[in-house]
Amino acid sequence: MKKFHMIIDLEKCVGCFNCMLACKDEHVGNSWLPYTQEAPKHDHKWICPTLTERGEAPYTEVTYVTRTCMHCDNAPCAKKYPDVFIKRSDGIMLIDYKKAKDPEIASACPYGMIHWNEELEVAQKCTGCAHLLDEGWKEPRCVQTCPLRALQTVFCDDAEWEQIIEKQGLKAITDGTNKPRVMYKHLYFYNKCFVKGALCFDKDGIEEAAIGAKVELMVGNTVVAVTETDFLGEFYIDRIPKNSGVMKIKATFEGFDPLEKEFEIKDKSVVLDALKLGGGEGKPAVILPNEHANQQALDHMVPKDVEAAKKAFGLADKKTAKKKASKE
Ligand code: SF4
Ligand code: SF4
Ligand code: SF4
Repeated sequence: MKKFHMIIDLEKCVGCFNCMLACKDEHVGNSWLPYTQEAPKHDHKWICPTLTERGEAPYTEVTYVTRTCMHCDNAPCAKKYPDVFIKRSDGIMLIDYKKAKDPEIASACPYGMIHWNEELEVAQKCTGCAHLLDEGWKEPRCVQTCPLRALQTVFCDDAEWEQIIEKQGLKAITDGTNKPRVMYKHLYFYNKCFVKGALCFDKDGIEEAAIGAKVELMVGNTVVAVTETDFLGEFYIDRIPKNSGVMKIKATFEGFDPLEKEFEIKDKSVVLDALKLGGGEGKPAVILPNEHANQQALDHMVPKDVEAAKKAFGLADKKTAKKKASKE
C-alpha cells in the first residue's frame, strides 16, 4: 500500500516561513471535521523552520531546520494515549478531537509537536492535511507552498521507502526509535561539524593563498577525508561527527614543508586561523583542477574556473593593487 512520507531538505530551505503560513491559512478559522477542529491564530506552529548556526567568526553558516509531526510508526504519543491517537493505514497519525481533552496530551510528544488549544480545550497537531489528501490532493498545503521544494511528499510502500532512504541518504532527526515518516536530507548541516581553514605563504612580503594544496583530515595516523584548497587557499571538510575528539589537518603543498595542525571537535564546528606554510622558496601557487578533491567532503561547490572566479570576486585587482602599494 502507498503510504505518506515527507522529505525535508535542509540544503534547500531558506527559512521563508511559507510552510507555516500555508498551514495557518489552511487550519486557522477552518474546522476540518472529523480530522481536526480549527487551529488558533497564535501560538500553534504545526510546522515551523528553526534557525540554527554552525561555525564561528569569521565563518558561520545558517541552516533552517523545519520541524513538524513526524507521523511516527512507533509513536510515543500513541503509546501513552492509545485511545486518543489514530494511526491511519496510510501512516498518517491523527488525534481524535473528541477524546483529546486533557492538556497533558500535549506533553506526550517528546519532540514538542503537539499543541494545546486553550480556547477549544483540545490537543492538536499536524494532520498531514489528510482532509485534502482524501479529496485527491497530491500534497499537503505546506509542501505545495514551499517555493524551494525543500519539502516533498512521497507516497510509496515500505520497501520503496527503504530504497529512497538509502539512495537519498535520508536521516531521522531523532534517534530513529520512533520510526518517523518525516525524514531529512542533508541533516549534517544541523547535526555534524565542519573544519574550515586557509593556507598561505609569504612571497616578497605579501601573503599569497596556497591554491590547490592537499589537505588531509586525520585521526591519529588514519586519513579520514581529503580535499584541496580552493582559489582563496581555503579548505572545508564537513560531516565530522560531534565529539570526534582530537584530530589534525595535514597540509601538503609543493615547494613547502608539510604542515600539521591539531584541533578538537566537541559539539561545535572549528574555524582555524590562517595557516602559514614555511620552509619553501616562495614558489608561485600552482593552480590545480579540483577533480582530485574528495567531493564527498567538499559539500560546497568550488569554482572550476579559478581565473573567472577571482575576477568575479575582484581578487585579481586587489592583489595587483597590493603589490603596487608595496613597491611604492
Ligand atoms: S512526532 Fe510526536 S506527535 Fe507526531 S506522531 Fe511522533 S510522537 Fe506523535
Ligand atoms: S501537512 Fe498540513 S497540517 Fe501538517 S504542517 Fe503541513 S499544512 Fe500543516
Ligand atoms: S516553505 Fe520551504 S523554504 Fe520556506 S521555510 Fe518552509 S520548508 Fe523552508
